[in-house]
This record gives sequence, C-alpha cells and structure tokens, in this order.
Amino acid sequence: MGRSLDIGIVGGGIGGLTGAIALRRQGHSVTVYEQAAKYMRVGADINLTPNAVLALDGLGVGDAARRTGARPTFRISRDWDTGEETSRLPMSSAAEERYGAPQLTIHRADLLSALAEAFPAESVKFSKRLRTLEQDGAGVTLVFEDGSSARHDVVVGADGIHSRVRTALLGEESPRFTGVVSFRAVVPTEKVKHVPEIEAFTKWWGPNPQSQIVTFPLNRGRDTFVFATTGQPSWHEESWTSEGDVHELRAFYRDFHPDARALLDACESVLKSALYERDPLPQWSKGRVTLMGDACHPMLPFMAQGAGMAIEDGVVLGRCLSGENPAAELKRYQEARQERTAKIQIGSRGNQWMKGQESADWVYGYDAWRTPLP
Ligand SMILES: Cc1cc2nc3c(=O)[nH]c(=O)nc-3n(C[C@H](O)[C@H](O)[C@H](O)COP(=O)(O)OP(=O)(O)OC[C@H]3O[C@@H](n4cnc5c(N)ncnc54)[C@H](O)[C@@H]3O)c2cc1C
Repeated sequence: MGRSLDIGIVGGGIGGLTGAIALRRQGHSVTVYEQAAKYMRVGADINLTPNAVLALDGLGVGDAARRTGARPTFRISRDWDTGEETSRLPMSSAAEERYGAPQLTIHRADLLSALAEAFPAESVKFSKRLRTLEQDGAGVTLVFEDGSSARHDVVVGADGIHSRVRTALLGEESPRFTGVVSFRAVVPTEKVKHVPEIEAFTKWWGPNPQSQIVTFPLNRGRDTFVFATTGQPSWHEESWTSEGDVHELRAFYRDFHPDARALLDACESVLKSALYERDPLPQWSKGRVTLMGDACHPMLPFMAQGAGMAIEDGVVLGRCLSGENPAAELKRYQEARQERTAKIQIGSRGNQWMKGQESADWVYGYDAWRTPLP
C-alpha cells in the first residue's frame, strides 16, 4: 500500500460503483457523486460474461450477483432465416471450469444493488450532477449543477457516454449515431417455453450486420430477455425508458425463423432506443483525472461487453493507483486498458464475433486481477 488518496468518482453506475469498491479496498477514501436522486429500477438486462463475473468475485460481489442472475446454458449462433446453427459454446459450469466464473445475465438494478451493498451508503452523494471540473498540481475541484463544489486528490469520470468529465478533460465532441436502433423486451418464460433451448444465450444473425435478435434468460430464468437491433437511420432518440411499438418490431423481423418470431410475438411491450458510439480514444488520463467505462470507451452492444469493460476498468484502476504518484499511475491504468477496450469497441462495431465457431478465450478468459500491468 502506498499513500491513501481522497478520490471523487463522478457517476454511480456499474463502472463508478465497481471502481469505488476496488479503490476503497486499496485503502483510499472514496466519494461517489450521482446525478440521480436515488437508484431506480431502470433498464433490464446486463450480460456479465465470465471475465466480468471473475472481476466481481475478487471484489466480493459475485455471490450477490449469483443470487439473482440466470446462468445461460450455451452461447449459440443461428442464421436468421434457416435457423442453422453456426456456433455453439458451452457456458454455465463449463465456462466456470474454463474461465473460473460462469456467465450471469442479471437485471441492471439487481447488479447495482449488489454493488451498492459492498460500498458505504453514506459515501454515495445523490442529486449531484457535475457541471464541470478544474485541476491544478495539488488536486481537482468538482463543480455541481446545484452550485456546490468538492475538492479531491484524484477524480474518476464514470459518468457514461455523455460524460461531462470527458468534456472537461478532452473538449466537446458528440457521440455518433450509428443508424441502428435497439428494441428491448422482457417476456415471462412460461409464454415461450416451447421455443427450443430457451435457457441458452442465442443470437439470430440477420441478413446484415445491423440486424439481429438476441435472447437469453433473466431473473433466474423466470423471464426471457429479447434484444433486437436493426438499421433505422430516421430514429435518433437515445433512451432507456422510451416505449416502442411491438407491431413495428414484428414487422422488422417478419422474415426471421419461426422460433425467433415466436419470441417477438410474445412481447407485450418493448423499449426502443437509438444506438450511439465513439471512436477509441488515444488518451483518457490527464494529470489527476481519468475516465472509466462508457465515459471513455462506449461501444455498440454486439459483443455484450459494455458493463464488463467498465467492471474490468474498476479492478485494474484499483490495482494501479497506489497513491505515490497519482498522475503517472492513472496513465499506467489507461495504458493497461487501452488495447483491450479499443479492440472490443472496434469488434463490436463490426459485429462478426462468434458468428462462426471460434474461441471466446481472449474476451472471456481475461483476468483483471492478474493481467500484467505495463
Ligand atoms: C439508466 C440506465 C439504464 C441502463 N440500462 C441498461 C440495460 O438495460 N442494458 C444494458 O446493456 N445497458 C444498460 N445501461 C448501460 C450500461 O449500464 C452501461 O453501458 C455499462 O454498464 C457501462 O457503465 P458505466 O458505469 O460506464 O455507465 P452508465 O451505466 O451509463 O452509468 C453512468 C452513471 O453516471 C451518472 N451520470 C451521468 N452524468 C452525470 C453527471 N454529470 N453527474 C453525475 N452523475 C452523472 C448516470 O446517472 C449513471 O448512473 C443503462 C445505463 C443507464 C444510465
């Protein structure tokens, strides 16, 4: 252990809370500033592949995640029209043996609760929306929309794809609309149990890289999650709560295999959002400020690694920041994470990963606790 730092984290999402737990375990004093007034049950699925679960296990959060998460049996790829299987990977206990942790598909709110339980509640400050920040050689001052401010030795921006910390650090630059929209729905498994292998994670690969339907179990298998994407350049609204139209959803995928369509037929409501992304960043640590998660490497959901990358970032940041030389250690953290997160950002954009039979080891086999640091 080096010198104990006073650290401020902006954003109390999955990345921010993971980073907070990891840094506190290193002996630092950590305060999290979250813009929301409290945690609400927004969103639905979070896909935690073995690399993410292994990272959470080391933080003591894995057991809580296991209590509410489902364990998909296989990861299967199928052709959209013929239904032909193009790849199959055993998950569940086979993944646990191979990677040291299973895949868990979990409600985002349950994962946030599991993380929040592992961090002192009084150190999360709600209704604190960052306006901007300033740093000097000795520390960083955060300025919030309510007019208050706070001073810390080091600041971590975990404030998502529209990160204000990122803007303060690197200047204004808007995320890019991809021309792709997503539909998310949760269906009681009882209604779709006739669909073969409903307990698996199945990706129906569409006629072009933008078009796909992914389904997997949620809420310990009581529900089935349906996630579908398609090109629709006319729709720009990005939201976790906007209602879509189930008739439009069904129309987009009317030529898909009957087993895929059966899932869409069972949807009573659906959420719709446009998908945005950014290019990999050449730099995201400057002086005493750094970024993590979607704030520095937002990605399309096609490799299901958005949350996983934020969680891995938190663990590696905790390992790097000993407090002796914060600016150099934050650079070291960035260097440790840059190649992997850029590769996954680019791979998610291309959307070909695991379409055919290939090894998932480079993604699932990464151990944030042991990966060599530069
Ligand atoms: C409400 C919500 C619901 C989501 N639902 C899903 C889902 O169902 N499935 C899925 O795959 N992904 C979902 N995501 C995205 C997913 O959680 C992230 O892509 C991933 O986990 C990376 O996490 P992150 O912590 O980097 O960013 P995020 O999860 O986006 O967290 C960022 C946090 O920062 C806070 N914040 C933002 N700006 C400020 C500010 N200026 N000051 C203070 N705090 C700020 C936000 O309120 C949020 O809590 C959701 C994100 C959000 C915010």
